[in-house]
Amino acid sequence: MIRNIKLFIDFDGTITVNDVGDELFRTFGSFEPVHSELLQGLHTVAGYYERSASYLRSEATPDAVRAFALAQDVDPYIVALFTWCQMHAIDVTVVSDGFDVYIDPILDAIGFGSLQRHCNTLTYLDGKWTPSFPGASESCACFCASCKRNVLLTHAGPDDVIVYVGDGRSDTCAAEHADIVFAKGALAAHCETHGVAHHHFHTMFQVQQILERRLRENDLRARKQAERRRQQAIMAE
Ligand SMILES: [Mg+2]
Ligand SMILES: [Zn+2]
Repeated sequence: MIRNIKLFIDFDGTITVNDVGDELFRTFGSFEPVHSELLQGLHTVAGYYERSASYLRSEATPDAVRAFALAQDVDPYIVALFTWCQMHAIDVTVVSDGFDVYIDPILDAIGFGSLQRHCNTLTYLDGKWTPSFPGASESCACFCASCKRNVLLTHAGPDDVIVYVGDGRSDTCAAEHADIVFAKGALAAHCETHGVAHHHFHTMFQVQQILERRLRENDLRARKQAERRRQQAIMAE
């Protein structure tokens, strides 16, 4: 049986080198103390974003935010990976707990503006930015404003092989439900402590090499633990 591969990938710190959301609030607003308060569990992510958006200064016009986004560095091998995925009919979906205002211009700039993406939005009206969270979930235990697990469950069928690539806390629920996990940073640490089998990566070059090898060797099985979790999550809905 030919199994379709679906690749889901985080944005901040994965497609881009830095966390662009953090940089946005650092550049145009006040990153601290709200960010430390978030890490201490004093805010939900949605609450943190609402506060952070209200601190954005008047220089943060849509044009300025766009220019700021276009100055961010992306992983040097991301275009190669996405191109390779297209050549192999691998469906790519960007899943982010960040914002459309910087994700869209960056994806456009690297020639992949047409990729499906799920994220939070920031809307500019009368000089003020307001966040909204179309991907919020009450059924998942994750603390995110936009739940990535739910995107996986909605967009992948039972016979698809789900690949997940990420680096942070907002990636943990999705990674636990994926068959092939590529992790770095906080996500890699989470996978270590929770026994989630994963490939530790540094750049997209390694992600592509490992995927190429697994495709060549037809090593594309479902991960039993992930398959079970997906079934449980779907039944709980
Ligand atoms: Mg990230
Ligand atoms: Zn979740």
